[in-house]
Amino acid sequence: MGLRVGIDLGTTYSAVARIDADGVARVIKNTNGETTTPSVLCFLPEGRIAFGIEAKEYQEEGDPNVAAFFKRSMGEGSCLIEHGGREYTATDLSGIFLQKIIKDAEESAGETIDAAVITVPAYFGARERQATIEAGERAGVKVLGLLSEPSAAAFAYGLTGDDESKTVLIYDLGGGTFDVTLARIERDEVRVLGCDGNHKLGGKDWDDALARLLVDLLADELDVDPYDLSLTPSEMNTLLVKAEQAKRQLSSRESVRLQVTAGGETGAVSISRDEFAQATESLLRMTTTLIEKLLDECNVNWNEIDGTILVGGSTRMPAVASFLRDATGKEPLRGINPDEAVALGAAIKANMEDKPMYSLGGAKGQFELKGAKTLVDSTAHAMGMVAESSDRKRYINSTIVPKNAAIPAHETKSYSLRVPAKGGMLEVYVLQGDADRVLDNVLYAKYVVNGIEREDGRESVVEVSYGYTENATIEVSAKQPATGKTLAVEQCEPEDDLSRFDGSPLAYEEELKASAPQVAQRILLALDVSGSMSGDPLEQAKSAVRGFVDELEDTEAIVGCMVFADKNRMEAKLAPLAKRGNAGRVRFAINQIKISGDVGYGNAAEPIGYWLDEIRRAEPVFSTSEEYHDCLVILTDGVWSTQEQAIRNSQKAAEVGHDIIAIGFGGADRRFLEQIATCSDYAALVDASKLVETFSTIGRAMASGSGLSLA
Ligand code: AMP
Repeated sequence: MGLRVGIDLGTTYSAVARIDADGVARVIKNTNGETTTPSVLCFLPEGRIAFGIEAKEYQEEGDPNVAAFFKRSMGEGSCLIEHGGREYTATDLSGIFLQKIIKDAEESAGETIDAAVITVPAYFGARERQATIEAGERAGVKVLGLLSEPSAAAFAYGLTGDDESKTVLIYDLGGGTFDVTLARIERDEVRVLGCDGNHKLGGKDWDDALARLLVDLLADELDVDPYDLSLTPSEMNTLLVKAEQAKRQLSSRESVRLQVTAGGETGAVSISRDEFAQATESLLRMTTTLIEKLLDECNVNWNEIDGTILVGGSTRMPAVASFLRDATGKEPLRGINPDEAVALGAAIKANMEDKPMYSLGGAKGQFELKGAKTLVDSTAHAMGMVAESSDRKRYINSTIVPKNAAIPAHETKSYSLRVPAKGGMLEVYVLQGDADRVLDNVLYAKYVVNGIEREDGRESVVEVSYGYTENATIEVSAKQPATGKTLAVEQCEPEDDLSRFDGSPLAYEEELKASAPQVAQRILLALDVSGSMSGDPLEQAKSAVRGFVDELEDTEAIVGCMVFADKNRMEAKLAPLAKRGNAGRVRFAINQIKISGDVGYGNAAEPIGYWLDEIRRAEPVFSTSEEYHDCLVILTDGVWSTQEQAIRNSQKAAEVGHDIIAIGFGGADRRFLEQIATCSDYAALVDASKLVETFSTIGRAMASGSGLSLA
């Protein structure tokens, strides 16, 4: 079996760690013998790719084929670099880079690596996390899971075996990102209380500030205006590399002297640690503002912090430790290399299930693990969904899982909705963030829940479960309790223009109605005229369908009438009732209906198939509508000899979205009525005296477009 490693995929540097045979977590050196590899790659003309230190050399020369800082664009899907006719996204580049550092680690460890825990910044949202998992998989390793970088560090330091519980602040300042986490370290558990961060703030910003300062100092030295020293791209690259080196030197020395070239002018400048600290004070203050916000959210005071853990190369700048010492009154915890803590924590996590006993290298005793500790991570972002305010005037962000909740976290919400007979769907927009205004959050995804079945006599209820997985990626599933079925949930690209979420739901509904194609009801009334209907039943049936026509007279409905016994026959052609004279013509045809030998006295006819043929042939009836919704309303008192064929044809009708309403009275068979009706709400067996009432109920429901329930 191959190794399980922990990978710290950093913005500027990355590291791979393992558990050694002696149970100690150690970083695996790369093939250059270094514990970290710069997260840089360069596509070379000969088709080879340079990585790490070698790629950094091309970066210094300003080579356009260099890709760096790609972690900052994780999950964005945009192309960062084009090479050899191919476009590379951050996920592509991370995948290629990971593959290389894994191969290197395998070579120096002399073992194969088949699984890894990869670390990500705590504030990474679900998209960025998903992209990281994908990059790991493309690199050919099994991704056991993701771990937040500060949680990994807390985890590494959590191995003190101390019985006392401690509140610690993890201050992680890397090359391109800043992360702050508050965690409780207990004997058996590391619980993350909360985190915050800024993923556009890191060592690189200190480099930029120092580079500017160096140009100013050069201008002083040369006695020229700094604006006159405009740098060429290649001078800029060289200057940034020198600034980064000077910054590192200032961590161990009080001052440095270096050669600077700008705008073709070269000179030697000296800079002190204090000057550098002053020039970058505003950057440090940005980190303290975030810490204070987090402490506030978690209800913790500075003096309640038992210790601070430093993570990330940039915490080597003395100004960082000195600020934390002043704020907490305590020395930051030391003992683990800040460049390695994250990878070590991830390596321990990766091997957790197999072996409960690990310790960190170098500090035996102090960092011994007494038992398998669990790690309870928390959400860096609230998860919400777009909802309507109770007065339906605004869209709001309705929180599902709050920020800083322990993960995995799950929440289920119920939705009631009116579903058409042929089934319905539900759209949900999942947001990341806790701002009230929808558009102030990140829209994570749009989900469509399909296949919702209509429930008899009421609105259908759908339960949607939202989950933050252990890796803090988002999962959505749905089911319909009434049917017990799991519903298909599809993740779709949200619309480009989401400005409607700044408007009112009511106005949007009106707009939708206005732009929707006009659908006209096209209704055929089918009256049973077999022998058993003679006398009162037929008269009652005729007045019921006349009442139905009255209800629809002023609508856009298209109505016709047919009779059936042994044969089928159209009595009044389908015609728009609103058009002059048509309602009268239909009523006249209904009045004329009688039991006669023309269509026979028996029950050998099958009206459903006849109706389907009729609407297939129907001439385009004059109307302002673009689409029709077809419905057959059957009134029968008996049993048909063509029942099986009728059921088959009613299924065909349902498949194309046509509806059938089946009303029976007298000796009609209720089960058969339900079999031919679109759904059980559309079937009824009523007393002859209730026919008129039943038909006006149907007529009114159709005229108003509201749902119909006869059950
Ligand atoms: P990381 O992303 O955690 O690997 O952090 C890398 C960052 O740490 C880069 O911006 C480095 O310039 C910075 N860094 C590394 N060593 C030092 C040091 N001794 N003093 C100051 N910054 C450092």
